[in-house]
Amino acid sequence: MKNPSDEQVRETLRQLQQQAGQPLWETDRAEDFQVQFRLDEKISPAKFKSDPLIPGGYLANSLTLRAMRPTLFVAGSSVDELQTLHHCACGEAWDAQFWKMCPFCGRD
Ligand SMILES: [Zn+2]
Repeated sequence: MKNPSDEQVRETLRQLQQQAGQPLWETDRAEDFQVQFRLDEKISPAKFKSDPLIPGGYLANSLTLRAMRPTLFVAGSSVDELQTLHHCACGEAWDAQFWKMCPFCGRD
């Protein structure tokens, strides 16, 4: 069974890669393309929403931003093979390749 939040993250990554027009793991190009994340506590955990004020930016709540791996964008076509699902005590499942802790409750 697919976790909808993982789907959301994948979709966001796909959109970001399209906007960047290049694979996002090319860190030498990082200056050319930066994703802006702004804090919005109204956004559900582990979700991103397009920022209405910053083109190409995203809104996420503070727990989501803290749980995000800095290497979130180390993702390409092989995302599905790398999936490492963690089943958290809070009842949610999350993919360790995107998150360093549970984006729903903050547990490690
Ligand atoms: Zn949890």
